[in-house]
Amino acid sequence: KKWVYRFGGGKAEGSAADVAILGGKGANLAEMASLGLPVPPGMTVIAECCGWYFANGRSLPDEMKNQVLDVLAEMEALTGRKFGGTTKPLLLSVRSGARASMPGMMDTVLNLGLNDQTVQALGHDAGDARFAWDSYRRFIQMYGNVVLGLDHEVFEEILEDEKSRLGHDYDTELSAVEWQHIVDLYKQMIRDELDEDFPQDPQVQLWKAVAAVFSSWTNARAVTYRTLHRIPHDWGTAVNIQAMVFGNLGSSSATGVAFTRNPSTGEKSLYGEFLINAQGEDVVAGIRTPQSLTEEGRLASGSDKPSMEKLMPEVFSEFTAICRRLEAHYRDMQDVEFTVERGTLWMLQTRSGKRTTRAAMKIAVDMVDEGVITEAEAVTRIEPTSLDQLLHPTVDPRVERVVIGSGLPASPGAASGEIVFTAEDAVAAEAEGRKVVLVRIETSPEDIHGMHVAEAILTTRGGMTSHAAVVARGMGIPCVVGAGNMRVDLRNGLLIGAGVTFRRGDIVTVDGSSGHILKGEVAMIQPELSGDFARLMAWADKARRMTVRTNADTPTDARAARSFGAEGIGLCRTEHMFFEGGRIHVMREMILAEDEAGRRAALDKLLPMQRSDFTELFTIMSGLPVTIRLLDPPLHEFLPKTEAEIEEVAEAMNMEPGQLSRRVEALHEFNPMLGHRGCRLAISYPEIAEMQARAIFEASAAAAKATGAAVELEIMVPLVGLRSELDYVKSCIDQVAAEVSKETGMAIGYLAGTMIELPRAAIRAHVIAETAEFFSFGTNDLTQTTFGISRDDAAAFIPTYQRKGIIEHDPFISLDFDGVGELIQIAAERGRKTRPDLKLGICGEHGGDPTSIRFCEGVGLDYVSCSPFRVPIARLAAAQAAI
Ligand code: PEP
Ligand code: MG
Repeated sequence: KKWVYRFGGGKAEGSAADVAILGGKGANLAEMASLGLPVPPGMTVIAECCGWYFANGRSLPDEMKNQVLDVLAEMEALTGRKFGGTTKPLLLSVRSGARASMPGMMDTVLNLGLNDQTVQALGHDAGDARFAWDSYRRFIQMYGNVVLGLDHEVFEEILEDEKSRLGHDYDTELSAVEWQHIVDLYKQMIRDELDEDFPQDPQVQLWKAVAAVFSSWTNARAVTYRTLHRIPHDWGTAVNIQAMVFGNLGSSSATGVAFTRNPSTGEKSLYGEFLINAQGEDVVAGIRTPQSLTEEGRLASGSDKPSMEKLMPEVFSEFTAICRRLEAHYRDMQDVEFTVERGTLWMLQTRSGKRTTRAAMKIAVDMVDEGVITEAEAVTRIEPTSLDQLLHPTVDPRVERVVIGSGLPASPGAASGEIVFTAEDAVAAEAEGRKVVLVRIETSPEDIHGMHVAEAILTTRGGMTSHAAVVARGMGIPCVVGAGNMRVDLRNGLLIGAGVTFRRGDIVTVDGSSGHILKGEVAMIQPELSGDFARLMAWADKARRMTVRTNADTPTDARAARSFGAEGIGLCRTEHMFFEGGRIHVMREMILAEDEAGRRAALDKLLPMQRSDFTELFTIMSGLPVTIRLLDPPLHEFLPKTEAEIEEVAEAMNMEPGQLSRRVEALHEFNPMLGHRGCRLAISYPEIAEMQARAIFEASAAAAKATGAAVELEIMVPLVGLRSELDYVKSCIDQVAAEVSKETGMAIGYLAGTMIELPRAAIRAHVIAETAEFFSFGTNDLTQTTFGISRDDAAAFIPTYQRKGIIEHDPFISLDFDGVGELIQIAAERGRKTRPDLKLGICGEHGGDPTSIRFCEGVGLDYVSCSPFRVPIARLAAAQAAI
């Protein structure tokens, strides 16, 4: 088996395409070597060996060791040095390198091959004994930590004690003899601690270091990092063994890092730092302040330390040429590491550089203009969810912050304000011109008016599809839900988090992008939809097949969504219209009425309100498709709860409060989410559906008259499980359509369809499609009903499931392809078999989630629909799915 891939001397066995085998670092070292760039010769032990190592009691295959020794011999020939040699010794670096970048998570050993003999030879050869002893002590320190498991601190203590004994402030002041003494102290300490000597045999050092790097794959921080970034635990890390080059060989030596373009602005100028006379870890350790690579960077930072451009002009120009070459070769901004050894430049790493969203956008657009990449490629370069950073104010990453709690990042953006605990307080404070954060245990539709005026919303309960989350996303208000590590004491008006108590009126900041709650007011960065954004989105629109609609219940939502590029409304939750202003009272009258006549009386009052809402919505969406859903939610959401509310409603209805209370009790349901909701309401009380249909048709006629262009009307029936349910409701709608058409003398065109949000509906899709002219997948309910997990209670245990590896991700955020996804697939296929032109869309929260959108593209849906602020994300994700 081939365990080892060599590189160096202008050749390599692997290439950048071999990331899965060689890891990122190894693959790119091979690529650079093949390009003829100055890369110290070396080899990569493949990542698969890491799995072998763990499967075989943490041992290394002999075959691999033999291959390493073979390549080592070639490296000796290339460098003219000998591993363990007593003249011109070859030293090695041993580094991890996984398939996905895991910065700083795994271990590295440098200067390997030094021992009591080779240190003398190294000093002699370099003409610098101090350098040799300094390197030896660095090696012992790293090896002692990584391989022998000794604390880094114990070495630092010895060094600090010696420095103070000798009266030195800086490491640079220590002489060769003094370093030699420290080496003795280190070795003595190891003997004392471990009862064994520091290994002198370079081969022993090498195998132990390789094993230690493999072992570091499973150290706690690496495991956590992989879990957080969804990197599979079975990938393993490769190990790169490479000839050492030294940046610490005096003032003509240096080490540094660079980005080929500015990673925070995207500006096309080399950006980086270096340290004279140092080894790589000195840059990371932050002991000395690095200097700017370029003069431009030096001036910008106001530093008086000379730039590399000034200090080493020849090496600098060689380096910039290599950077340009790498960028052109990889066709992307690169993040590189390099070392200069006595005036000779060596490249140690290159990879695609991490960048802010703004930089990513600028770089992608610039590279199209430079003719480096195509428009379609530019579209694939931006992570869709990262657009959030551009669409909302975000917490300035440069400022200090105090986190007092955290929950689910339910609606992106950040905002600060005074804490209020009720919707009423929110409205009152806002009327006085104060900014508020509405803090609730959870929200209900009655809080809508308070949510509207709040800068941000925080709840301590609920998941990503809880009321607060859905509404806040729709409104584009930052929101964190399910902050279980915070406590709301409503009675005393307190919010308690991280051991600190906040009162009503205290200022907090809600960061809906990270899920953090911060103390006080924090500086923000304002959104900037620059020309680059608009250009890139236009390319995305060209590339995608699916259309992108929005979930909008109000004219404000609809306008916002159109400005973000929505091509219609995929879901208007009409019930949300009943919470505005005084409508809730009329709605309550309707629900609580004891007979049809009472209901009709209330519905007559609701009709003009709905009609004017729809007219406005249809006017905004003129010419585009609009899906209106009939009343869906469980009625208890509308019921009066407090005594004062009951009294108010009783008076309006001319009833005794006691009588009304009994009516409220009679409407109580044990499980409202699976109770009297959706089309069941329309079947029990067809007059509700009739009123809504009338409002819709009359509004559509009015809007068409006013704008000259009709909307493409789609009327949607929720929570259908049986075809007969849909048949019943559709016949009500059709009848009203005929009436209105007669009354207005206008032809009324519309599609009648259903949501697919129950497993039965998905399985019986071929039958339902005989009536339905379109399907819209309601994946919030479909996830809830497929898993049998209440969407409002999921947040209490889904995180535990994730932590214990029972599920990978929250199925309410990202579609469960295997279960819910298969139901969607079945429904789409069966539905289209019956009705080939059946329109298919999705309007659950998943319609704004990029991985779910990719799935929708695969199933061949016609559109996705999501909350207004997700529209640009969905446009980009739909484009990437189609490319
Ligand atoms: C759904 O269930 O996915 C849906 C869009 O409807 P709602 O969230 O209003 O139940
Ligand atoms: Mg639903």
